[in-house]
Formats: sequence, structure tokens, C-alpha cells
Amino acid sequence: MSSYSERARAILPGGVNSPVRAWNGVGGEPVPIAAARGARVVDAEGRELIDLVASWGPAILGHGHPEVIAAVQEAAARGLSFGATTEAEVELAELIRDRYAPAERVRLVSTGTEATMTAIRLARAATGREVIVKFAGCYHGHSDALLVAAGSGLATAGVPDSAGVTRGAAQDTLVLPYGDEAALTDAFAEHGSRIAAVITEAAPCNMGVVRPPVGFNRLIATLCRNEGAVMILDEVLTGFRAGPAGWWGVERAHDLEAGLDPWTPDLVTFGKVIGGGMPVAAIGGRRDLMEQLAPLGPVYQAGTLSGNPVAVAAGIATMGLLDQAAHERLAALADATVTGVSEALSRHGIVHAVGRAGTLFSIFLGLSEPPATFDEVSTQDTAQFARLFHALRDAGISLPPSAYEAWFLTAAHTAADVEAIVAAVDAWAATEAA
Ligand code: PMP
Repeated sequence: MSSYSERARAILPGGVNSPVRAWNGVGGEPVPIAAARGARVVDAEGRELIDLVASWGPAILGHGHPEVIAAVQEAAARGLSFGATTEAEVELAELIRDRYAPAERVRLVSTGTEATMTAIRLARAATGREVIVKFAGCYHGHSDALLVAAGSGLATAGVPDSAGVTRGAAQDTLVLPYGDEAALTDAFAEHGSRIAAVITEAAPCNMGVVRPPVGFNRLIATLCRNEGAVMILDEVLTGFRAGPAGWWGVERAHDLEAGLDPWTPDLVTFGKVIGGGMPVAAIGGRRDLMEQLAPLGPVYQAGTLSGNPVAVAAGIATMGLLDQAAHERLAALADATVTGVSEALSRHGIVHAVGRAGTLFSIFLGLSEPPATFDEVSTQDTAQFARLFHALRDAGISLPPSAYEAWFLTAAHTAADVEAIVAAVDAWAATEAA
């Protein structure tokens, strides 16, 4: 164990401030990161690595984009936090609304967890109902009502997924298998008058990337509308990353092409990209729902650092630079990476499947078809993924340290980076197959 690890473990539980950073999914000792620029991170031992973590999504332009850093420095020079409204937070909210029409009103918070927690409170207040429907394998942050993923098959009454979550907090959460239209329809038939909200990841990316079956999000929207429940679309990870208007925008474009009326979520949660690497998240949605928030309405929500001026400056700069060209670049990089990695694995007979939603993707080792549910995801070969993770690390590439995460590209990755990733996967696959 390095002296760093000893020191970290002596003060931080598990040596980390967020569990996945401990590499429990892949084994080994994480080396702290000292700096990051563009598509590269530099660890504390001075090793430069091609980064496919991108801070778990926010670094969509690459790390430390000079214009984002300059915006943060300028904002910081004017003061770090005022606890009062600023023009900048209005501008960021407008940028979100202008790209994502269902966000008629926006409230800025600091983390995705706060955003989904508040969206649920709003839905319960607006409907006067208590039950929340969520899908197994979807992650919405760590508030009590959402730390429930137990049970597959038909609706199971929520059982806490974490110690410290009371039965009371979990029992009003119904967990359904992802993508299962019959289970969802049955849940509404049985509990419809008690369902306050259905929350879903716009496209699940926290069990690896699982593409929503065609029509599934639309069914949620329709059932919620017909039954008086609120559809909460969680775009914390996919928002402004899966496509220019998140995953909702991707489905909307398909619907318009197919001559269908696009569906619309009632509430949407954002995070990650809208803060460009600083703590910014948001709830957006229908005006009548959003105006139930204090001070206009009875639903309380607040934050000392909400809409923090330095954080918001990073978000505005990032959203400003994230133009059509950047999205096209991300899409081309995702295509090239997925194709190259998949071909390399196939060349050596490594069984795998690609999960893909817009520019987001992950590779499932040991599965021959893209999984559709968390149960199917759970049959992937995580031990083999751990070997891939360490081989890539040795080759100078930093994969997310878990088989249940997306591989994050940035607009700063280059064709040469993709070639290096593909070559490293090819070399590993050759050894693995031998
Ligand atoms: N929702 C989704 C879809 C997420 O991916 C995450 C974080 N990975 C969250 C909510 C929680 O966000 P945060 O970590 O900022 O609390």
C-alpha cells in the first residue's frame, strides 16, 4: 500500500469521498489524480493517461478548457458566493430552457441528488399522492426514497438498498424491471391512484448504457398523463451529452421523423454537463409544477450555494462552447471508438455487446446481445472487465473503474486517442484469448 493510500484511509472512509473511486469493482489501489487537461489526466506519480471517465460526465469539452477556466477565474475575482441572486444564474437557466423546451422554469441546485429529491417532493405535493415508481438499475442519486433497487419481476414493494434507509422511506417506492411495458401498465392498473411519479433515467447509463426500448419513455409519459401522475425524466447524466437536447431530444427527433407527436416529460433533472465540472444541477419542468416551489408555493427547497456564481460561470461557458460542431465531434468519436473496440474484441473472439444511447456507450463483456434489464446486465463478466481495466491502465488509458458505467468521451479526444484505445483493447484481447 502506498503512503498516500494509508494516509487517505486513516481519514476518509475507504480512502475516498465517493465509493466508486475506491476501485472496489476492479481491485487494486487507485492513484490520486493531480491534474487534468483536455482528454488527459495526470496522476500523482506523474503518469499521463487518456481519460474515459471525464469526471463521470461533466468534462464534455475535455478538462480545463481555457475559456471555461478563464470564466471561472473572472467570476472568482468578483467573489465566491453571495447568497443572493445573480444575473449569471438567470443566464444559465435561460440557456437550459432555450435548448430543452420542457424546462419552462428552472431551479438551480448543486447536485443531481438534490435535483431528483426535489423533483419527487414536487410530484408528491402536486398530486397529493405518495408512491414513486422507479426502475431497477436506474440511479438517481442517494436520497432515501431513491436508494431502492431491490426486486425484479413484477412490482415489488421497496426494500432499502442501503443501511440507514428506513422501511418507511422505501415502502412508497415501487421498483419495476426496466423497459417492461407490461409491468408498468400493471403497476398503474393496480396502484394508479396512489402513484405520484414515475422517475426514469432518460436513457439508463448507471448499469452500463441501456438503450430505452422504442416507445418506453412515451408509454411512461402517456400513463402518467392519463393517470394524473408526474413523469420525472432524469437527464443528470444524459442531458446535453447524449445529444444537444439530451436523450429527450434524440427521441423527439426520431418521433418527428416518424410523423409522431413528441412526448414531453413533466419534470426534468439535470447535472454534470450544465456545471462543466463545477457543482451545478437543476430541476426544470412545467411552469405550474415548478411554481409550487418556495417562495411561490408550498414545496420547500433551498441551498446556501445554489446557483453559486463561480460554478454557474463554468456552466455558462461550457454550454456556450457546446455547439452543434462539438456534438457532431462527440458522435463521430463515439462511432469510431465503439466500432474499433468492438472489432478488436471480435477479432480475438471476446464475447461482448455494445450498449449505446446517442453519444453514450459502454461495453458489456461476456454478453452477446445488448442487455435490456438490470438482471441481464448483472450476468456480464465483471472479472473480465477488471482485467481489461488494468490492462488499459497499464497502456495509459483510464477506464471507469466499474463494469456498470459508461465510457465517457470528450470533445478534446482525438482520432489518435481513439486509435490508442483500440490498440490497447486489441493487445489485451489477444492476451485474453491466448
Ligand atoms: N441521476 C443520474 C442519472 C446520475 O447519473 C447521477 C450521478 N451519477 C445522479 C442522478 C446523482 O447526481 P450527483 O452525483 O450529482 O448527486
